[in-house]
Amino acid sequence: MTLTHGLRVAQRMSTIGTESAFEVGARARALEAQGRSIIHLQIGEPDFDTPAHVREAAKRALDDGATHYAPFPGIPALREAIAADVSARKHVTADPSQVFVTVGGKGVMLYAILGLVDAGDEVLVPDPGYPIYESLTRFMGATPVPIPIRMENDFRLDVDELASLITPRTRVLFINSPANPTGGVLNRDDLTRIAALAQEHDLWVVSDEIYGRILYDGEEHVSIASLPGMAERTIILDGFSKTFAMTGWRLGYAVVPTSLIQTYSQLVINTISCAPTFAQVGAVQALVGPQDDVDGMVVEFKARRDLVVDGLNAIPGIRSALPVGAFYAFPDISGTGLSGAELAERLLHEAGVCVLAGTAFGGVGVDHIRISYANSRENLTEALGRIGGFVEGLGRG
Ligand code: PLP
Repeated sequence: MTLTHGLRVAQRMSTIGTESAFEVGARARALEAQGRSIIHLQIGEPDFDTPAHVREAAKRALDDGATHYAPFPGIPALREAIAADVSARKHVTADPSQVFVTVGGKGVMLYAILGLVDAGDEVLVPDPGYPIYESLTRFMGATPVPIPIRMENDFRLDVDELASLITPRTRVLFINSPANPTGGVLNRDDLTRIAALAQEHDLWVVSDEIYGRILYDGEEHVSIASLPGMAERTIILDGFSKTFAMTGWRLGYAVVPTSLIQTYSQLVINTISCAPTFAQVGAVQALVGPQDDVDGMVVEFKARRDLVVDGLNAIPGIRSALPVGAFYAFPDISGTGLSGAELAERLLHEAGVCVLAGTAFGGVGVDHIRISYANSRENLTEALGRIGGFVEGLGRG
């Protein structure tokens, strides 16, 4: 790609993808700047405030001088709190030395791919799934292999189909439960069968559990790392963004097998040096302090989920499953006569509702849109009215 004076960017930049939520959001804000009313249902970010006791701890930390570099894997108090939390909630025994605090859960993803994947390798990624797994895999010169995730199967991957996609080149399997963009959850039986495949074919597993505490209807969170023989081949990806409404703090964490401590150490030192120190002091309180804010948020998300799913299913041409976790609905909109991409584009411009095309998460989601219900019930009700009115205007259904 030639810019000016023969200057060019690296060839590999032609292989990198994106996360549409950020780009589409910018387009929506440009329309707002022209005076349009837009309801934002595109971004995966809780609309709640970070709990007050966490904010207070970080403010105090600034005044107490936590303004210098931290140890590269994270401050000891946070690594210990994470190890204890992982043991209590995920039933995974981890020593604090296996914990790395990163800049967002995205950091964990980047290091997994940089550290484990060579050019020519294959990496299994959910489709639809979080787009960065695929993007970074391609960026490394490796091949992402989509695992189809279908509404007919409650948005759980089909383990037999997964088995058929494994080849001698497969190195890493990404799983994400509860899932973005579908809200699907892998149950213990699914995970047990996936674990058997990972062991039989000697795969690394990256288990993205960032929505692990946002679960409804009594669904249990099972970490694949808690299953026999899995801790030594699994990287747990989790963080503070979603559970504690801390997206802007940019704090995620990895729990890695002891065999990867050196790999993660080198990658963290080469990239970020450490995650922000005062933010880490605040994050300790997120884990060890009162959990009422998290519980309250999940109760509110559940009410919004029900509102959104009922509202979508009342619109002719749209069918939504009931998501079991996370805060997204991923309805099939094929009955409207439009593709997900067409509907998303037209909803933005003609109805003032910003959602994402299902294909922002892979090819399988062509007939879907993704709706984030991390917005007030009032806005969600208004958005449903606008979507319903728009679809009715198409004269189909
Ligand atoms: N994993 C999944 C599935 C996500 O949806 C997100 C954010 O949207 C992330 C990881 C990254 O979150 P963060 O980098 O804010 O921790």
